This record gives sequence, C-alpha cells and structure tokens, in this order.
Amino acid sequence: MNISDLVETVLLMFEFWIQTHWYIAFAMSLATNLGIYIVAASSIEFLTNQITKRGSFGRFVDNRPFKKGQRTNEMKNGVLACVTFALVSLLARSLFVGIVPESISQLLMEVLVFTVFYETYSYFVHRILHTQRFRAFHSVHHYSVRTTPWGAYSVHPIEALLIGMSAPLFMSVFSVHLSVIFGFHILGVIFTMVIHSNLEFNERFILFRLLNRYIKYHSAHHSIGNVNFGFVNSFWDSCFGTKLVEPKVVNK
Ligand SMILES: [Zn+2]
Ligand SMILES: [Zn+2]
Repeated sequence: MNISDLVETVLLMFEFWIQTHWYIAFAMSLATNLGIYIVAASSIEFLTNQITKRGSFGRFVDNRPFKKGQRTNEMKNGVLACVTFALVSLLARSLFVGIVPESISQLLMEVLVFTVFYETYSYFVHRILHTQRFRAFHSVHHYSVRTTPWGAYSVHPIEALLIGMSAPLFMSVFSVHLSVIFGFHILGVIFTMVIHSNLEFNERFILFRLLNRYIKYHSAHHSIGNVNFGFVNSFWDSCFGTKLVEPKVVNK
C-alpha cells in the first residue's frame, strides 16, 4: 500500500466514523485510543529501559522505588481514561467544519490556535485541580511520584473528562477540521507519555536536550507539587510565578 492509498483509507474511515451509529463510532474510538495507549506506553517503556540499562545513553530522572500497586493502578486508570476519551469523541462528530484543511496556511492556523488554546486551558484546569476543593480528584494522577508512561493518563474520570472536553469546547467556538483534532490527540497522547517517561538522556544532540527539558519539567511537578503546571510551554508558569527555573527532582 502506498502513501496515497493509506491517506484514502484513513479518509474513508473518518467518513464512516462520522456517519455510522454512535455505538459503532464509540467502539472505533475506543479501539483507537486503547491501541495507541498500549503500543505507545509499551514502546516508550521498552526504549527507556534499554537506554538506561546501557548507562552511556541515559538514566532515570527519579530512582525511587515504585509505590505498591502503582503499575496496576496506572493501567486501570489509563483504560478508564481511554473509555472517557472515546465517549467525548462522539461530541466531535457534530462540531467539525470538514475533515481535512483546504490549504497549508489553514492547517498551520488551526494548529497554532489550538496549541495556544490547549496550553492555556490545560494550565488553568491543572491549577484548579491543585486547589483544596479539587485536590482529591487530581491526587489519583499524583499517586505516581516516580512517573512512568503508563501513568500519563492515570487520572480520575473527572480529570479525564476535563482533558477530553478540551477539543469539543474548542470546536464549538473555532472552526477546525476533524483530522487536525485527531492528529493533535494522537501526538498529545504520545507527548504526555514521553514527559512521564522518567528518562534523562545524556545530552549530546539538541533533540535530546529538548526532550530532557520537557521530561524534567514534568517530573519536578510530580516530585515537588505546586510548580511547573504547563504542558508544552512554560509561558503561563512564568506569568504566575509557578515555574521552577532549574527543575530538580527530590530523590527522598
Ligand atoms: Zn498536578
Ligand atoms: Zn503528570
């Protein structure tokens, strides 16, 4: 199968997903979410273990032992989050303006606006989840102090709903194409797993140095608490004084 056949198949699947019964669309969304969750988490975990085993390529950011039942907890919550994302995806079926953007400039504009929206939305939702009233919900995610890719979506169903609702909320205000939201979701899942990988590369190439920054940034959030709420950018953390300039993980 060449690239154009693959693109055509994906577009046909999008069209089928839009038009079919809600329960078939839900099953397709669930299978996609679970497939990506399992494949991405196991691949990132396998690579992290290989890289840290050799030592010369990288090491763990946090070496503390895992908590009792942490892995089971993370997987159970991760599967529940996939179910929530699949349910929320049904809302997107009526909110998009088309499947594929008509030009590169339109694509770039949608990517830019959604990136700014999501960074802002996730920062403030995350801050609210750290307040006294809502901390109990978010404590599910913070049970994992030493992070793992499986724990990226180890969240309370309410938090999973808040994460999932970002796309329908955005789509109800801005014109956006379905493939852009889908692409964002897939890349977002993978990126979230990478920043929970607990991996620190030995810094040789610029890409590794960049990844180290993201991973250490979020590891410090799990280790210390009320710092580094940002997702891909520290802009809002800088504005509100919640940025830890030199993220250090407390290994105690
Ligand atoms: Zn948090
Ligand atoms: Zn986290």
